[in-house]
Amino acid sequence: MAMWTTGWREEQWETLDQFQWDLVVIGGGITGAGILREAARIGLRCILFEAHDFASGTSSRSSKLIHGGLRYLKNFQLKMTSESVHEREHLLKEGRGLVTPLPFIMANFQGDRVPPWLFGLGLSVYDLLALKWNHASYSAKALRQLCPPLTSSKITSGFRYFDAQADDARLVLRVLQEAVQDGASALNYAKVENLLKDSSGRVRGVTVADSSGSSDRSIEVQARSVINATGAWADGLRSRVGGKSRLRILRGSHLFFPSKRLPLSRAVTFWHPRDQRPVFIFPWEGVTLVGTTDVDHQADPKFNTVDGHLFVTCATRNIENPPGGHKTYGFERFDEGEWSEPFECAPCVFWRPKKWRDQYVVAAYAWAEKDASVKLLSSKDGRDWKVISNILPYETGGNETELFVENNKLIAFSRAASDLDMLISTYFPDENRWETVSTGRLIHGPCIFQAKDRTFITGRYCSQGDDRFRELQGDWRKFTNYVQQPDEEGYKTVAEAAGIDPARIEEYHHGLRTGILLIDGTKLRLVMELLSAGDSSYPGVVEYGDEYVISDYSMHEYYPVIHKPGDWESPSDIYVSRVRFGK
Ligand SMILES: Cc1cc2nc3c(=O)[nH]c(=O)nc-3n(C[C@H](O)[C@H](O)[C@H](O)COP(=O)(O)OP(=O)(O)OC[C@H]3O[C@@H](n4cnc5c(N)ncnc54)[C@H](O)[C@@H]3O)c2cc1C
Repeated sequence: MAMWTTGWREEQWETLDQFQWDLVVIGGGITGAGILREAARIGLRCILFEAHDFASGTSSRSSKLIHGGLRYLKNFQLKMTSESVHEREHLLKEGRGLVTPLPFIMANFQGDRVPPWLFGLGLSVYDLLALKWNHASYSAKALRQLCPPLTSSKITSGFRYFDAQADDARLVLRVLQEAVQDGASALNYAKVENLLKDSSGRVRGVTVADSSGSSDRSIEVQARSVINATGAWADGLRSRVGGKSRLRILRGSHLFFPSKRLPLSRAVTFWHPRDQRPVFIFPWEGVTLVGTTDVDHQADPKFNTVDGHLFVTCATRNIENPPGGHKTYGFERFDEGEWSEPFECAPCVFWRPKKWRDQYVVAAYAWAEKDASVKLLSSKDGRDWKVISNILPYETGGNETELFVENNKLIAFSRAASDLDMLISTYFPDENRWETVSTGRLIHGPCIFQAKDRTFITGRYCSQGDDRFRELQGDWRKFTNYVQQPDEEGYKTVAEAAGIDPARIEEYHHGLRTGILLIDGTKLRLVMELLSAGDSSYPGVVEYGDEYVISDYSMHEYYPVIHKPGDWESPSDIYVSRVRFGK
C-alpha cells in the first residue's frame, strides 16, 4: 500500500514489530528527514518516528534563510563559511521551487563598529567561495532608490549581496517524500517513549506510542541502529540511557508584521545598534519578518520530561459553534517571562491538572460526545493528553471537577448539573472504575485543599439554603429563557413578560457566596464565609507560611436592578483572603 494513503497508517502500526529494522530515526525535523533519505538511498530498511507533525519543531520555526555563513567570517571561520556556501549552492540546485535566491541590502550607518571596507572585503571572500561575483556597493542615495523605506539620514553607503530563502517546513516534507520514494517509512504522531537496550547495553530499538489521540497503543520496535534526531529535545532521550546532557540550547526571536505596516520588497540587514548582532528583515508569505541571530536559552533542558515543567492550560469556547465548541490550549513556560506557542490539549474544558503517579491528570468536561459528562485525561509530558476513564455519566450533567490526591488515591469532586449535589467520586485504577456518592450540598467551582490534616473545599455555595436556592433557581431559569424571545409584546421588563418578581432573581444572585466547607467523609460543613458579595466564586488556594491565601471573584455588592438576563454582569472584583486554621 502506498504511503500516506487512507489505511496506510493502521497497516504500518500493525507491522512495526514484525521484523528488525536496519535503522530507526527519531525526530521528523530536517535532520531526521535528511538522515532517513540518505539511509534509504543506500538501501537500508529504515523508519522515522515523529512525536507531533513532521517539521513541527524548530524546522518550521527557523528564519527561513539558507545562508552561506557570512557572519562566521567575522570570526575567521573560513572552513565553516566555505561548507555553508557549498551547501547553499547545492540546495539552490536540488531544492528548486523551495529554495530561492534572496538579495539582501546591507546599509552602513555612521558609527558602525564594522567599517564598510571590511564588510566589502568579507562579501568578496563570500562570493569567491561560491565561485560567483554577485555583490555590489551603493552610495547612500542609490541605496535609498533601491530600497525607499531606508530613510535614515545616518546611512552612509550600502551593499547588496545574495543568500537564499527556503520554505523550511515544506523542505522537510519534500526530503521525507524523497526518502519514502526510495523505500523508507515515516510515521508522524508516533512518540518514542523509551530506548531498548540489549544485554551488552547497546541500544537496539525503541518503544513507540501512538500520540495521535486516536488510540493508546504502544509498540516495541527492534532496530540494528537508532539515531536520535530530536534536536532541542535530544538530551531528554539521551538521559533515558544514562547519557549526560550535551546541548547548549539557543533561541532566536521573530516578529511578524502585516506587510502593509512594514512594506518591504527585498531583504534588509543591519547590525543591532546595542550589541551588534545582525538583524534581518524580509518579506515572507505576505508578512514582513524581523529576526535576529540566536541567544542562549535558559530553559530547563529536561524539556520533554514530566519534572521541572510548568504548563498553563486555558479553556476557550468557540462562540460560533456551541455546544461542544470548547477547546483547551496549553502553554509551557520556558523561561522568565517566556512562554511557548499555544498547543491544543483537548476538545473540552480542563479544570486544574494535577500530578498523580508520574503523570499529569485532569478531569475535563463539556464533551461533544454524550458518552460521559466528565472524563479523566492523562498526560506524560503535559502536552499530549489521552482519555483514560469516564468519571461521571452524561445524565449527571457533571462539569467543574476538582481532582484531589490523598494518600496516592485519586478523588474527584464534581459540580453536577446545578440542581444536583456536589458529587465525590473515588477512582479504582486497577478496575478503571469510579464510585460516586452525593454530599447533599450544592457547591460550584470546587477547590480542595488540606490544612491541619483536614480536607476543606472552597467554592460557591447558596447562603439561603439549598431548598430555597432550588426554588429561586427555577424562576431564574424561566427568566433567562426569555432571552430568546425579544420583548415584542410591549412588556416593560423581561421579568414582567415572564411573570417573575425581579426581587427573586436578585435574591438568587445575592445568595451565591464563596465559603470554606470542611469535608467530613461525604458531609460538607460550612466553616467560614468569605468576604465576597453576590454571585462569586472560582477560588484558588495557596499555602503561604502558616496561612492559606484564597482568591475568588465577586460581583460588586450593589449591582443594578435586574430587568433582563445579563443585568447581573456588573464589574467584578478579585478578593484575597488570608486564613489561618487553629488546631
Ligand atoms: C530561531 C532560529 C532560527 C533559525 N534560522 C535558521 C535559518 O534561517 N537557516 C538555517 O539553515 N537554520 C536555521 N536555524 C537552525 C535550524 O532551524 C535547525 O538547525 C533545524 O531546524 C534543526 O532541525 P532538527 O531536525 O535537528 O530539529 P527539529 O526540527 O526541532 O526536529 C526535532 C523533532 O524531534 C521531535 N521529537 C522530539 N522528541 C521526540 C520523541 N521522543 N519521539 C519522536 N519525535 C520526537 C520533535 O517533535 C521535532 O519535530 C534556526 C534555528 C533557530 C532556533
